Amino acid sequence: MHNTEKEDSGLPFFYFSIPIFATQFIVMKLIDQTYQIQGIGVADLAEKYGTPVYVYDGEKIVNQVKLLQDAFSGVNMKIKYATKALSNINILKLLKKAGTGMDAVSIEEVKLGLHVGFDPNEIMYTPNCVSFDEIKEAVDMKVMINLDNIPMLEHFGRVYGNSVPVCIRLNPHIMAGGNAKISVGHIDSKFGISILQLKHILKVVKEYDLNVIGLHVHTGSDILEAEVFLKGAEILFDAAKEFKDLMFLDFGGGFKVAYKEGDISTDIMDVGKKVSVAFQQFCKEYGKELELWFEPGKFIVSESGYLLARANVIKSTPASTFVGVDSGLNHLIRPMMYDAYHGVFNVSKTGGEQHVYSVVGYICETDTIAADRKLNTVEEGDILAIKNAGAYGFSMASNYNSRLRPPEVLILGGKDYLIRERETFDDILKHQINIDI
Ligand SMILES: *Cc1c(COP(=O)(O)O)cnc(C)c1O
Repeated sequence: MHNTEKEDSGLPFFYFSIPIFATQFIVMKLIDQTYQIQGIGVADLAEKYGTPVYVYDGEKIVNQVKLLQDAFSGVNMKIKYATKALSNINILKLLKKAGTGMDAVSIEEVKLGLHVGFDPNEIMYTPNCVSFDEIKEAVDMKVMINLDNIPMLEHFGRVYGNSVPVCIRLNPHIMAGGNAKISVGHIDSKFGISILQLKHILKVVKEYDLNVIGLHVHTGSDILEAEVFLKGAEILFDAAKEFKDLMFLDFGGGFKVAYKEGDISTDIMDVGKKVSVAFQQFCKEYGKELELWFEPGKFIVSESGYLLARANVIKSTPASTFVGVDSGLNHLIRPMMYDAYHGVFNVSKTGGEQHVYSVVGYICETDTIAADRKLNTVEEGDILAIKNAGAYGFSMASNYNSRLRPPEVLILGGKDYLIRERETFDDILKHQINIDI
């Protein structure tokens, strides 16, 4: 390594002489041979809080929000952050301050939002297959309700008529997303009401005089192209003409972020320009300025986060060399569940020789975090950083193998804050009831 300052993503050095790119894309930097986030040594964080630990760069999160706001500055765009990606109350507070609302997929997420001070009208509640009791609870909390099946729409109509505004989630049947498990818009997906059932929807709306003020589509995660959004938009625009009192159209989330070196992420400026033009054109035809909503999760928080883990063993077999770390699918399940790629690098070795390793967890399952990766020579005790761990990392963590969930640390204004304590053995026992046997 010749230059003293290099971002871990492998972007060429000249990127960093352009300040605007520097502030938008850099999270962890290599300065004077130590990895730093906002000037704080990453190895020091691992020392201070122990491993494994989740670390989030608050500045990166706020920058992603700004990026999206800039890309859609020509229209009345509202961000409803998809809470399920990362739901620590401090992250929600940070996003509230940055001007976003939130999308909640459970009543507990609604409660989290209200708990940190979101206004009910800033919260979109998009449940799937929940009971009507939970819908009622959300109505009582005065948040926006997004319904995704016809029986629920009828039930809603019977109980509330037109007294409570409602949004309808449509399934446009667009195949999108990086993996079948994160594509939710296809024909046999359980999400949304099929666009092919529009006539049936309209019948229910008329019968109960439903006050439909929004339409929603969310086609999946890891969508790259403006064209996919535009395809979804066209279908939504067509359906929207059938509803007279709309106030917003919601295009869901799913913007792709870079995972691999040289990986392309959604060109957000391109999406912004193209979708804005189409949206303005639609509003003209509709005869009313509507709001354009998005529900990004991954785009906002993925790149901000690192899971820091320690190398417990270096194990050579005739076939490969494993690095076993003090974490696994209990803390980050994306590689195993979605075949997701997560970049890994050795925080403790900023130069020297490289070897090919498979980074695996300590769980009694095959929990390969990263297969066949070139890393700077790993020794026992080295700290490895797993990238893109901000979204669907901690929020999908479990106690499998009766392991403790890691702490979370947020870096804000050049300072590190513990925002969740590491669990203790008491937490493992906490809700278990000891009966006489
Ligand atoms: C998960 C989800 C999102 C966010 O998806 P990302 O890929 O993280 O952007 C948005 N809307 C709904 C309804 C979701 O379920």
